[in-house]
Amino acid sequence: APDDTLLLIEDLTVSYGAVEAVRGIDLTVRRGEIVTLLGANGAGKSSTLNAIVGLAPRKARRMEFSGSDLQGVPPETVVRRGLTLVPEGRRVFSSLTVDENLMLGGAKHATRGDPAAVKADMLERFPILAERLHQNAGSLSGGEQQMLAIARALMSSPDLLLLDEPSLGLAPQVVDQIFDLIGSLRERGLTILLVEQNVAQSLEIADRGYVLANGRIELQGSAEELRASPEIQDAYLGA
Ligand code: ATP
Repeated sequence: APDDTLLLIEDLTVSYGAVEAVRGIDLTVRRGEIVTLLGANGAGKSSTLNAIVGLAPRKARRMEFSGSDLQGVPPETVVRRGLTLVPEGRRVFSSLTVDENLMLGGAKHATRGDPAAVKADMLERFPILAERLHQNAGSLSGGEQQMLAIARALMSSPDLLLLDEPSLGLAPQVVDQIFDLIGSLRERGLTILLVEQNVAQSLEIADRGYVLANGRIELQGSAEELRASPEIQDAYLGA
């Protein structure tokens, strides 16, 4: 049978000096899935995403993307292989225009496609960014900045997109738009690993999920199983 595993992680540890943020987790993402990583503040979710792309100090028994080893691979090379992170806090460059932000995401070192073609596609997909192309990113609303952060990441034509709390701090209506966008990206063939505080909506959109607590995986399963689990109901869904 063809192996559709896109991301394979075994026994990942992330330590900041004496602080062990992630303590030996296993995690897989298969092609075409949306997998969500849930857990309280400080559980180690961001550290996991950052470690995958080489932005946090990591150790693992195995860490492979598309069958090739990620260990020791620097962040810019990870992007070129098709794995891109949208970090927490939608860090767009406020004093650069929307256009300049997009072009940075499609810069030569980052992109695998033709930047002009990818940008044209992006502007079709995000009409609001097309309208605001020559405005400074800092003048956009929070939701628009998150769209821009995602569009910028998509400029590298990734196979796997890591999203770190894309809905954080956004109004409910805008949160819905972001979740709609994530669903439409999957329909277009993108695989997504999604870190979220918004547990109910994440489990609606995801195929599978993992719950992290104190750097360990406490619970995992299909989105359906997680939604039905008493732990999730008590801790997050307010049953
Ligand atoms: P949050 O939702 O608050 O971002 P999280 O689940 O993403 O939480 P992490 O940000 O990965 O959790 O943090 C896990 C632990 O690692 C926390 O105790 C945090 O204080 C610590 N930590 C994170 N980044 C660093 C760092 N650069 N240096 C030292 N400690 C860190």
